[in-house]
Amino acid sequence: MHPTSHPHSSTHPSPVTTSSTKVEAFDFTKGARPVRAPRGSGLSCRSWQAEAAMRLLMNNLDPEVAEHPDALVVYGGRGRAARSWAAFDAIVATLKRLESDETLLVQSGKPVGVVRTHKEAPRVLIANSNIVPHWATQDQFDQYEAQGLMIFGQMTAGSWIYIGTQGILQGTYETFAECGRKDFGGSLAGKLCVTAGCGGMGGAQPLAVTLAEGTCLIADVDRSRLQRRLDDAYLDEVVDGLDAAIDRAVELTGSSRAVSVGVHANAVDLLERLLERGITPDVLTDQTSAHDPLQGYVPVEYSFEQAEIARKEDPEAYQRLSLASMVRHVRAMVELQKRGSVAFDYGNNIRQRALDNGFADAFAFPGFVPAYIREQFCVGRGPFRWVALSGEPTDIYKTDHALLNLFPEHENMYNQRLHRWILGCHKNPEALLAGDYANCEPRFGWQGLPARICWFGLGERDRAGLKFNEMVASGEISAPIVIGRDHLDCGSVASPNRETEGMLDGSDAISDWALLNAMVNVASGASWVSFHHGGGVGIGFSQHAGQVTVADGTEGAAARLARVLTNDPMMGIFRHVDAGYPTAERCAGERNVDIPSR
Ligand code: NAD
Repeated sequence: MHPTSHPHSSTHPSPVTTSSTKVEAFDFTKGARPVRAPRGSGLSCRSWQAEAAMRLLMNNLDPEVAEHPDALVVYGGRGRAARSWAAFDAIVATLKRLESDETLLVQSGKPVGVVRTHKEAPRVLIANSNIVPHWATQDQFDQYEAQGLMIFGQMTAGSWIYIGTQGILQGTYETFAECGRKDFGGSLAGKLCVTAGCGGMGGAQPLAVTLAEGTCLIADVDRSRLQRRLDDAYLDEVVDGLDAAIDRAVELTGSSRAVSVGVHANAVDLLERLLERGITPDVLTDQTSAHDPLQGYVPVEYSFEQAEIARKEDPEAYQRLSLASMVRHVRAMVELQKRGSVAFDYGNNIRQRALDNGFADAFAFPGFVPAYIREQFCVGRGPFRWVALSGEPTDIYKTDHALLNLFPEHENMYNQRLHRWILGCHKNPEALLAGDYANCEPRFGWQGLPARICWFGLGERDRAGLKFNEMVASGEISAPIVIGRDHLDCGSVASPNRETEGMLDGSDAISDWALLNAMVNVASGASWVSFHHGGGVGIGFSQHAGQVTVADGTEGAAARLARVLTNDPMMGIFRHVDAGYPTAERCAGERNVDIPSR
């Protein structure tokens, strides 16, 4: 059966019936205006949980944070925070009146109902971009989006816990650092790392590579994206002209200088030029928004400006060119891999696109999760992020300091990495170590509300969360802290080309786990819980869940934090024990994780 036809009735409305459906643009910008979350300890909602959801929604759309705030796009191609500006207004108005025993329901960025629940229940439940699997195609999604029925929630865009490029920086750093350890005997010093895509997430790459001591050459077709990363100190320099940029990067690599070079170019042009010149990068990856051939990726034939026009004029022709470019892109990556590059897919599904469009060797290089991350998933480790609702950087510095004390460096390798990371976030780490917060300075600019990220595992996340809650209760921190995470986590996602690629038992596409994760977080009392489809790798390729929990200093918050921040990472242990990973088995044994089938 063709995946876009309805199984029961030919008269049943809608589903896209041919792949040639023309996509009419829905006007996401109607009513656009700049928004910025309120700061400070005053409430405009009736509970801190609702207040936090409102501030974080606004923060996602803050022009300092979002990639295209007018169109409600936060990051990741067309990852949106709300269905429309009218829906945004309705969400904010509802959160302001929401009682502390009520729960707001959000369907693809639109507030669709309020139900009476209880105090321990989440204040908001969010479902974004979910389509019954048989119809879960890009064409079908585009049709629904054009009708104004749905948004692409990405991972943290529609679930209101995006914190700007820092949100991915530490994970990106962990990946490049692990690549240095595993593939180059220690670090990336003196290694040339080539990539593309300097957007919301991809913009973390140049800084992550240099933090891991490597030299980075990064291409983007949109000059303004490179400029933004220069302004935020994520990128060191932009060199005009393909050859001049390559020469500069090669020279820096030769002298082992950890500097990042941006070039305003299409990735395909950059890689094909490297091949022509016989220059083989040591490390090769990509973070263009290849998961979205229409809005996210620019074919080699077009400049950025030409692409803007072409995709509106003839979306179908545009996507054909886009997919053909991805084939060239991946072919060049595989060729460079054959010449010696360590190549890996960085979670944008570009291999699948190339495979589907005729390049049989597209999966010659691995995804970054099996290559560098899975072992951490096996012990429940994953991203842990927190945001100071006060808007005061000092509150984040205080949490930084608290974590350094709570997780002493000498205890284990992960604590050592935590210390290196937290201290690396500061221009003046001595001030932090001395508790001299007035003289602390961030190494990279804040985007929106001050926030921090690090990776924690089972037994660590709850300790950190409870510590923050105590600090709020004692008044050491001036307003509540919000604790959440990316959907890219150890037990929250089914994504066979990314987080669950190559699982030991072959269970890559089984998404029961992601659903269980969402349900566990609801049952545990997270402040808001989300379930999305298509994040990271695009429609049809993933299902995933997220949670955010507020530390407002109350005893109720402490109980919820203890439950959520234990049960959420525990899903990673369940997932990986079930799939047969020995590291997860060991972890389950050490931590008395209750697994009836073991
Ligand atoms: P984004 O849309 O904000 O940025 C993509 C960038 O790629 C843009 O700046 C765009 O101009 C550029 N680009 C597009 N086509 C290009 C081409 N052919 N050559 C050069 N530049 C090109 O997206 P983002 O938030 O940075 O995410 C990038 C990709 O990474 C997405 O597919 C996303 O789903 C995926 N992602 C990966 C992870 C991870 O942890 N690995 C996390 C989040 C997102």
